Amino acid sequence: MPLPKVVPFRNEAGISQALVQRLGDAGKKYGLGAIFPFSIDKICVAEWVHLKCRYGCNNYNTNWCCPPATPNPEKVRSILSEYRSALLLVGSKSCSDFYRNNQQKRAGQVRCWKGTLSLERMLFLEGYYKSFSLVGECCALCKECAFPESCRFPQEKRPSVESFSIDVIGTLKNLGTTSKVATHTKDTFNYYGIILLE
Ligand code: SF4
Repeated sequence: MPLPKVVPFRNEAGISQALVQRLGDAGKKYGLGAIFPFSIDKICVAEWVHLKCRYGCNNYNTNWCCPPATPNPEKVRSILSEYRSALLLVGSKSCSDFYRNNQQKRAGQVRCWKGTLSLERMLFLEGYYKSFSLVGECCALCKECAFPESCRFPQEKRPSVESFSIDVIGTLKNLGTTSKVATHTKDTFNYYGIILLE
């Protein structure tokens, strides 16, 4: 798997390099190839992201980790105001997987989901008691989400990054890097998770 094309960010989160290294090693087991601490004010929240969820996405109103079950942009801004720093988690996968709706795609999503939660747990045990995950892509822990019935794995339920109306490309620009949109099935694309830290 090629490493994501992102430059290292200055450690503005005040998190030790040794811990970042340990998180990075743990994340690699789940396909998360790189982890970068950053300051929360770099996160870009935009109404248009919510619009894209609401119009044009099959997951809208079908999953506990997607809108409208997740906080609206106004609430997201309020939640982020209680944090000072975060970690960006970066993985990459083949673009051809993006258009599939099969067991292989789901297995990748579950792996990323479990990895993100595992890192959140590590951080909690290190004293980052506010740590909270926003996971890349939609929750696929169940083959079909129980929504609107009760979630089957509530302890593992987290919002997706997109459901938080986070403009990932705008956020990456704020971090001084970019992400190319994959346009061919032979391309690889990066996906991003975020752990709110403190
Ligand atoms: S764990 Fe299952 S029921 Fe809960 S949000 Fe994920 S897919 Fe839906």
